[in-house]
Amino acid sequence: MAIGLEKYEAVIGLEVHAQLLTRSKLFCGCSTAFGAPPNGNVCPVCMGMPGVLPVLNRQAVELAVRAGIAAHSEIAPHSIFDRKSYFYPDLPKGYQISQYETPVCKGGYVELPAKDGEEPKRIRLVRIHLEEDAGKNIHEADGSLVDFNRSGVPLVEIVSEPDIRSADEAGAYLRALHAILRYADISDARMEEGSMRCDVNVSVRPRGTEKLGVKSEIKNLNSFRFVEKAIEFEVSRQIEILEAGGKIAQETHLWDPVREETRPMRSKEFAHDYRYFPEPDLPPLRIPPDLVEAVKSTMPEMPAERRARYVRDYTLSPYEADVLVAEREVADYFEAALPGLKNRKAAANWVMTEVLRAIRESAKPLAEAAPKPAETGSLLRMVEAQKISLNAAKTAFAAMCKSGKGAEATVAELGLAQVSDEAAIAEVCDKVIAAHPKELAEYRGGRDKLFGFFVGQAMKAMGGKANPKVINELLKKKLAG
Ligand code: ADP
Ligand code: MG
Ligand code: ZN
Repeated sequence: MAIGLEKYEAVIGLEVHAQLLTRSKLFCGCSTAFGAPPNGNVCPVCMGMPGVLPVLNRQAVELAVRAGIAAHSEIAPHSIFDRKSYFYPDLPKGYQISQYETPVCKGGYVELPAKDGEEPKRIRLVRIHLEEDAGKNIHEADGSLVDFNRSGVPLVEIVSEPDIRSADEAGAYLRALHAILRYADISDARMEEGSMRCDVNVSVRPRGTEKLGVKSEIKNLNSFRFVEKAIEFEVSRQIEILEAGGKIAQETHLWDPVREETRPMRSKEFAHDYRYFPEPDLPPLRIPPDLVEAVKSTMPEMPAERRARYVRDYTLSPYEADVLVAEREVADYFEAALPGLKNRKAAANWVMTEVLRAIRESAKPLAEAAPKPAETGSLLRMVEAQKISLNAAKTAFAAMCKSGKGAEATVAELGLAQVSDEAAIAEVCDKVIAAHPKELAEYRGGRDKLFGFFVGQAMKAMGGKANPKVINELLKKKLAG
């Protein structure tokens, strides 16, 4: 725990921007594809030429509604687009079309995964609104360039209440939001590509008090890890100032990932006056109830529901459920491997260890890193039927990941089938006992530990393929004499 946290409490609110999964921009037909050549996806509308008019992208509105439903928000039947005016080279119109006083979604919450033995915590939302992205300034040695490909790309801004109490909790919130956005196909939420971005508001207050302290805002955070580090740094910095008798200045900070510290960017006193006013070129946005119902009917099972179902139906711990559910494709894989398996918990463990390891070590997406889920299911059924040992299954799985061959074929090819034939095992046990008269005498004389020695010898003699349960039972009888 950072110094001072027994005396002070951190109060954190996040503003997350997520790029909506539309093919075209918010007010024009330009493509939103990532990686196009600079200024390849532009037109007079998103370049802010005079005399052009915006046309709202219906798909973007539906995705914003989807975000609202996924976050349990109230969908506003009427909302208004506003102009947020400021001057910057990446903003050719001189204003950004956003929503201010009447956003498309109000309220709602994001549920964090429960810690083992605790109830899940909810982080309340203030609002979710639609807005367009700005372009990008690129500064090079011989001058500055502007790329307008992102200009006009549709975003939702998701604003939380200041309900977050630590860097860890901020990380958990972002991961939960990331999963929600991806499950519901709202955004691909890739922080590294800028399709999910986050501004962090931090203040501290003496424990036990209610009044909010003065906050600072940190921008330029493009990974979950930076968000957590920046919060830790900022909380300590504020506590040190207060403990020294100072006052927190309300200012905007930038995170410096190299020096791992926040630096003041501008003071609120010099902050922009955005001169918000209703966008005259767009009518109020009306969302009829039947549109909300239509979107609702297409919502998939969301991460929080899936976590709860895994805990309830498969007796997984909240932690295990959280690991499996974090990425939808991993959870889908787990479920597709289940048919015909009795031990769901073992299957969950397999996915959490072997499958996630295959993804990590190959650095490939799940579909390329691991066998088809049905083949993994078939391998695990062989373990349940005691046709192969757990260790043999691991060997087979590693081979299947590389070769792409099926479970049955791999087990046969590698000769991994487990021998359960009692007669064959009994013969080996007899030989092992006959070959070790000294150990036999010691065992019978009371050195119980030698039991393991005999099991090891018998297993070795059978090339590791004997059913350990059968070996154990037979040896127990035979050694007892
Ligand atoms: P601003 O007007 O500075 O943008 P807002 O009221 O719009 O501030 O809040 C922006 C974000 O800051 C929200 O996520 C909110 O929860 C959070 N926030 C507001 N006040 C505080 C505070 N005192 N400490 C921490 N976070 C705060
Ligand atoms: Mg704000
Ligand atoms: Zn355009």
